[in-house]
Amino acid sequence: MKLNDNNAGGIINKIAGPLVVADGMRGCRMYEVVLVGEEKLMGETIRLDGDQAYIQVYENTTGLIPGEMVTRTGSPLSLELGPGMVGNFYDGIQRPLRVIKDLLGEYITKGVSVPSLDEGKKWRFTPTHDEGVGAIQGDVLGTVQESKVITHKIMVPSGFGGKLTKLNDGSMRVHDTVAVITAENGEEKNITMSHNWPVRIGRQYKEKLAPYIPLITGQRVYDTFFPVLKGGTVAIPGGFGTGKTVSQHQLSKWADADVIVYVGCGERGNEMTEVLDTFPELDDPHTGEKLMERSVIIANTSNMPVAAREASVYTGITIAEYYRDMGYNVAVMADSTSRWAEAMREISGRLEEMPGEEGYPAYLAARIADFYERAGLVRTLGKEDRVGSVTVIGAVSPPGGDLSEPVSQNTLRVVSVFWALDAALADRRHFPSVNWLRSYSLYLDKSNEWLEENVASDFKEIRRKLMATLQEESELQEIIQLVGKDSLPAGDRVKLEVAQMIREDLLQQNAYHEIDSYCPMEKQYLMAKTIIEFSDRASAAVEAGIDVEKIEQVPVKDEIARMKYVPHDRIKQKQAEIVEQIKKQLAPPEGE
Ligand code: ADP
Ligand code: MG
Repeated sequence: MKLNDNNAGGIINKIAGPLVVADGMRGCRMYEVVLVGEEKLMGETIRLDGDQAYIQVYENTTGLIPGEMVTRTGSPLSLELGPGMVGNFYDGIQRPLRVIKDLLGEYITKGVSVPSLDEGKKWRFTPTHDEGVGAIQGDVLGTVQESKVITHKIMVPSGFGGKLTKLNDGSMRVHDTVAVITAENGEEKNITMSHNWPVRIGRQYKEKLAPYIPLITGQRVYDTFFPVLKGGTVAIPGGFGTGKTVSQHQLSKWADADVIVYVGCGERGNEMTEVLDTFPELDDPHTGEKLMERSVIIANTSNMPVAAREASVYTGITIAEYYRDMGYNVAVMADSTSRWAEAMREISGRLEEMPGEEGYPAYLAARIADFYERAGLVRTLGKEDRVGSVTVIGAVSPPGGDLSEPVSQNTLRVVSVFWALDAALADRRHFPSVNWLRSYSLYLDKSNEWLEENVASDFKEIRRKLMATLQEESELQEIIQLVGKDSLPAGDRVKLEVAQMIREDLLQQNAYHEIDSYCPMEKQYLMAKTIIEFSDRASAAVEAGIDVEKIEQVPVKDEIARMKYVPHDRIKQKQAEIVEQIKKQLAPPEGE
């Protein structure tokens, strides 16, 4: 075969780690997928220069030699979207890891070409559209029960539209024709249950809406103090060991999203193996089924090729958008986006691009912004008015926990919620180690509105009092440093007492405790309200002349501390009892 005929491909000139330079590539497009070498390693063109193409290769390039051929595919890096993704584990470019493991006995791929969706599996397709009428892009043609809890909607892909001239019914494979759409010019198009979508391009929607419903995570410090909304964006920055991964796992398990997409990006292999081993075992508290019935996991560990890691976050967000388009609320966890940025840096370095801050490419900020921009609450394509959302929660792991570095800075500029993990708190085993003074949520007002309507009418006021107490505590700390706690006025000592209660009994939450791991919103409210009740009564008691030492020792304090371990169905009654005890134990002396 003559290589340069009909632009079929070129020849390897140079190999530099994950980067391959090929000659004879004139006509190749940017971001076109190519197959590199005899082993047909998958790669993507990331720079064109005359007839040279610079290709980032998604697989280990050791063993490649100059002179081997490079074959063009003519397509951009795309995913195959269709039934069978939920419950699956993929690598960064949507190769199913379980299938690969069965084939090769390990998760590391090289030149293996495995379909992303099980091509042989038959799905029961139930048509829901009418035959003989018009169908536009985004219309739901029918459904497939993808897992025990996810009904997969088969939609008319973007760019298609016309009269629905045929709609099948029955068991079919992903590549079988489920429908035929005839365009105005008479052209017939077969619609299958799957279609391809380029990962670097956000999927279309009609309109972006302002998020307004909280994503309830069951984690008190997030829901009560720094809430995220469905369709919102969050960054969790923190140094090594501060609890980023545990937070991401907690969110995957407990957040009230319909679909979870977990992207393990560049973290240690053993951690990812743990995810692959433990996730299938986990029960889903919301459905009573296994968690994997509504999850998709993308794993790209530090020992996997760097270019695939760069792609993995796009793979994750594209899958998320696809389920959003069905009308689902999807949450994407990316752990960690710093490893993704490092992958960009490495490839940019190989390309000898002009480096920006700390060696990261100059387009780092734009890439991060574009990624988070794909989050949102949207009105989807299609006649039916569906609304779906993608919430993005990205862990950031700055070296040494120092947030002044470029990845943290560029992330903080675009996200709406910032959960600042704090090494000092983690050292004290205060988990989640979210620093309550430095964290923030721009969704507070919206969240309060929703919680006041759906949980308790005084939610906002309770939260305000809690936060104010924590702030006062931090101011009092400075005075304590100078003069000691004992010389503080009694009123301030009560405040310290309450602040400690908020920190230890409310903010701290044990991910590994059977009951405490998840705290429903109603319980969060009742716990918070109890502490405020204590605070008000204790302040009044001090004013009535009760000795502050006595207040510091009232037995009801232990009851408040144990509230987090009270089963959810007993909390209401228990809370009422505790409030009675507070009233009794902090009552002003008789006759005054
Ligand atoms: P990172 O990903 O930031 O390096 P990890 O998420 O692996 O850190 O957390 C380190 C350790 O901190 C965990 O192994 C666990 O012991 C502890 N930890 C973190 N969050 C919690 C939590 N919510 N409850 C209990 N322990 C936690
Ligand atoms: Mg981690």
